[in-house]
Formats: sequence, C-alpha cells, structure tokens
Amino acid sequence: MSDADDLAEQVRTGDLRLHELEDHADHDTAAAARRRLLESATDADLDAVGDYGFDAAVADPNIENMVGTAEVPLGVAGPLAVDGGAADGEYYLPLATTEGALVASVNRGCSVISASGGADARVTASGMTRAPVFSVTGIAEAEEVVEWVADNRDRLAEAAESTTNHGELLDVDPYVVGDSVFLRFVYDTKDAMGMNMATIATGEAASLVEAETPADLVALSGNLCTDKKPAAINAVEGRGRSVTADVLVPRETVEERLHTTPEAIAEANTRKNLVGSAKAGSLGFNAQAANVVAAAFLATGQDEAQVVEGANAITTVEAREDGLYASVSLASLEVGTVGGGTKLPTQSEALDVLGLRGGGDPAGSNADALAEVVAVGALAGELSLLAALASRHLSSAHEDLGR
Ligand code: NAP
Repeated sequence: MSDADDLAEQVRTGDLRLHELEDHADHDTAAAARRRLLESATDADLDAVGDYGFDAAVADPNIENMVGTAEVPLGVAGPLAVDGGAADGEYYLPLATTEGALVASVNRGCSVISASGGADARVTASGMTRAPVFSVTGIAEAEEVVEWVADNRDRLAEAAESTTNHGELLDVDPYVVGDSVFLRFVYDTKDAMGMNMATIATGEAASLVEAETPADLVALSGNLCTDKKPAAINAVEGRGRSVTADVLVPRETVEERLHTTPEAIAEANTRKNLVGSAKAGSLGFNAQAANVVAAAFLATGQDEAQVVEGANAITTVEAREDGLYASVSLASLEVGTVGGGTKLPTQSEALDVLGLRGGGDPAGSNADALAEVVAVGALAGELSLLAALASRHLSSAHEDLGR
C-alpha cells in the first residue's frame, strides 16, 4: 500500500483527520491521499486535479486540505502602451479565464489604444482599510471615543505600525451608529494588497482604543471596511488603489479599426453604461470591467473575491472634434505584487511577464504600476465591447435605412 493509500485509509477509519495529513507526510503525499479518499467516496477521477507542476509545500500558506490545483487557461493581451504614474512602456497583460472571446476582445482594445499612442493612467488614491466595530453605552460615550481617537492619532499609528515594516497608518475615520462606534483605519500597504497587514495592525490599535476608552471591541472587521461585499463606501472613499486610465482615440482610428464613430460609441456608453446602470441601481457604471479585473486577478495571484469591489468602475466616453475620449475609473482595485497568492509559481511568472514581481523601488511602485496596467486593460475591454455594440447598431441602422 502506498503512503497516500495508507493515509487515506487512516482518515477513513477515523485515526486521522483530513487536515492532519501534512503532519505525517510531505505535502504532495498528503494531497494524493485526499484524492484517493475523494475518489473512493465519489465517482470522480482526479488525475487532472493531481497533475500539477509545483511542490505542494509552496502552496501551504494559501490553501488547506489541498487535493491538487484547478487549472484555468492563461492567455495574453497586448502589447498595451501605458503612460502611467508608475507604469511606463509596453506591457503584455496575462489574463486567466474560461470565457472564450474575452482575451480577443481586450486584445482588440489594446491595439486601438496602442494605435492611439497609448493610454494615460494614474493612481489617484491609495489606502487599504480595516474598520473594527466597538460597543459603547450610548452616544455620549461614542463621542468620548471619537474625541480620544482624534487626539491620539500618533499613539494609534505607533501601535499599528509596530506590527509591520512597510505599513503606514494614513487615517482613522470614525462612524457612529447608536451605541456602535466604527473606526475605519486606512493604511498605505506599499506593494502588498495589505489585507493581512492592515488587519494585524488594526488589532494592535484596537487594543489601545479598548485600554484607553470605554469602547469594547465587538469585531475586528465591522463591515465598514468593506471587504468582499458590494458597498458604496468603497465606490466613494476608495479602497486599495483608486485608479483612472484614459485615452484619446483619433477619429480615423475609430472608423478604420472599430468600424463605427465616436458619436455612436458615446451614445452606447450613455444609454447602456450610464442610464441603464442608473436605472438598475448598479454600483458599477461600465460594460465589462469585471471580466478584465477577474482574469488579471486570477493570472497574477490576487484575492479573487475582491473582484466584488475591484470591478467597481465608471466608464465615461465623449465624442470630441479630434476623436473619442474614453476613460475608466476603478474606485477600489485591491492589488499587490508581494504576499498572498503572488508567490505561487504561475502567478509570479505572470507578474514577471509584466515586469512587476515583488517589491518595487520605491516600495509601492510595483503595485501602483499593476493597478495602472489593469486599469488600461479594463479600458481596452470597454472600448472593444462598446465599439462592437455601436457598430452593430450602426450596421443595423444602415440596413434599415438602405431598405
Ligand atoms: P501578506 O503576505 O500577509 O503580507 C505581505 C508581506 O509582505 C508582509 O509580511 C510585508 O512585511 C512583506 N513585504 C515585503 N516587501 C514588501 C513591500 N515592498 N511592500 C509591502 N509589503 C512587503 O499579504 P497582505 O497583502 O497583507 O494580505 C494579503 C492576503 O490577505 C491574501 O492572501 C488575502 O487572501 C488575505 N486576506 C486576509 C484577510 C484578513 O482579514 N486577514 C481578508 C481578506 C484577504 P511587513 O508587514 O513586515 O512590512
């Protein structure tokens, strides 16, 4: 009996628990044992799941009860010419997706952007947030807590920053609801997406708040952060990187490459992305930002659940005399080039394709550049889809008129 079969048998008999296998074997054998167990308990054949290309120990910080990997095809769009605050040059954007036509669509947008001399992009705000909720007896105590926080910013920063070499406390924004006090801590987390960093730092600061005020900590995350839930606060205040990309596409480029006009694309954007989204009560006013954000997140090892807020984007389009102005503003794009899933083998290779693996010089510049490149990728996706809609509209209009 192989080691994996033996371990699987021990789980079956109740001598070992599923999560204890790495204590008795190397990570690959433990994963193989779980596959045996699943294969005997179900009709599944897990050969493909087990056919992965790295040492399972590498993924130990990223997964529990590992059985193998879920492979997603990886494509590339580009080159994408970006003139950013941190990004500068031509980038190939790795995109992992199972949606056929997505990469082709983004690629078409990339070629239009490059033919227009590239897109500008800037990170306009940066700050990862954690907002613990405290209980107090009522509004009088709440006021006392809020005043203490305002008077003791330095002490809070000292406590929070004692837990990290890179993180810096930027702000503490208080919110009071009845006898609940929320303190929204905002950090510069440099090249890390920063959710662990901000959570650990806020834990230390929250202990100080509890020690010095009547507030009792109820939850280290009070949902005003807001992580992985659609929320207006992220759209308004930002979270992670707030980033805008824009481009001016010459009129002849719109006509020759996108087979439509700036006016038709502007109308499609207004009626669909602005009026339609408003009528739907949407938080995002865009065509397909989530497609690019999700595929770039999967490819580069970002936390995929943060696509919820990462794709919160407004697309604007104007027909100008000299062509088509288009922009995408992503309010809360949480990205990092260190930490989390970025260290995994395929994900770090994808960051190498962008030239953005690891810490930047200065710290934070790699994550800023990644945010800018993703934003330009999202802009490429918007241009391509809006143009497809506009040209279809135009061609059907032509047909109608021709009859
Ligand atoms: P992390 O891997 O926990 O921390 C990043 C690490 O990188 C820190 O140890 C930091 O050291 C170090 N570092 C080295 N060079 C750096 C540089 N140039 N800039 C910034 N940091 C640098 O990652 P994280 O970004 O804080 O958190 C991401 C992870 O959190 C993801 O796996 C995500 O899934 C998970 N997550 C956690 C929560 C939560 O509530 N805890 C919620 C959502 C997601 P120093 O800290 O010493 O500076």
